[in-house]
Amino acid sequence: MSFPELANRFIADLERGGATVIVEGSISTKPARLRILTTEKTTDCLVFLWNITPGGGGPAVRPPGERRIQVTAADRFPLELGKSTLVGGWSDEVGVWGFWDVMRHTRFSLKSPSFQVHLDTLERASHDGVSTQKRKTAPPEIVVAVSPEFLLWFVEQGVVLHHSESDHAKVPALVNATPEVERDFVDSSRDVAQVARRLRLVETMRAYREARFRPLVLAAYSHQCAICPISLKLVDAAHIVPVSQPDSTDDVSNGLALCRLHHAAFDNGLIGVRPDYQIVVNPSSLARLEELNLARGIDDFRRLLRPAIRHPSALEVRPDRELLKRGMRLRNFAAELIE
Ligand SMILES: [Zn+2]
Repeated sequence: MSFPELANRFIADLERGGATVIVEGSISTKPARLRILTTEKTTDCLVFLWNITPGGGGPAVRPPGERRIQVTAADRFPLELGKSTLVGGWSDEVGVWGFWDVMRHTRFSLKSPSFQVHLDTLERASHDGVSTQKRKTAPPEIVVAVSPEFLLWFVEQGVVLHHSESDHAKVPALVNATPEVERDFVDSSRDVAQVARRLRLVETMRAYREARFRPLVLAAYSHQCAICPISLKLVDAAHIVPVSQPDSTDDVSNGLALCRLHHAAFDNGLIGVRPDYQIVVNPSSLARLEELNLARGIDDFRRLLRPAIRHPSALEVRPDRELLKRGMRLRNFAAELIE
């Protein structure tokens, strides 16, 4: 695949994940300069991509299962302030992306260097969504592979896995970790630097779980807000019981597809969804806004609301009634509105 083809595939995977991608300049030559926008953040990237292949020479000279990208001697990986430089490749054989740590490759003098990854690492990413591999370089390099649906997560957050050192082996366990497991992992650090690194890793893997939740919720609601008719690629996956609560889950039954406006209004408790699926405006939130002289537009806002949410027809992915109650209690709705 040519570089523009690889870059277009990369952009399409980010957009499928929910990002808007602005290409700065042209993508006919490396690197592609991309501005990646989501509700949460803007990420600026310089992206270098190659094809991940078995390489030349065949099994006689190459270890079995070795895959690689072939970088040319002319390639230099610039580091720019406020931008992240990604050095990666697409494996057509397995259908995943692989990324090398740019900090390990800012200088090299080989005529035609190649960066390796094991086929097993790529296959684990295809199965699990993300995988890591420690390369026995000095100092060691952590290679990260992700399936296409987690590319956006990798670009926004997962890049820190390159700097997870020996903790990279904990990534599979952290994917489904309970808050207790996360706390034990952080508490067993040997020094402050490791505490900081482990906290960041825990946060990154929480974001990974969220990235897994999003496509499932959006698909269940056909990418349309449950509260108003908006689709327009402005729809998020909201948690009914927020992620900050120990009993929050990433089951679709703890999710609602909400447009950006209604997501914000739901999270801050201005609107709630009752266990009978009716939508209510919280009178106490509204009174507080009136006190602050911030209640303008409330009539228009009310007009946008359906009387009750539009929910999926399949029972197992509908919002759970107990979770809806708990979500309202957590957002300070009066008891008589909840029952
Ligand atoms: Zn909406």
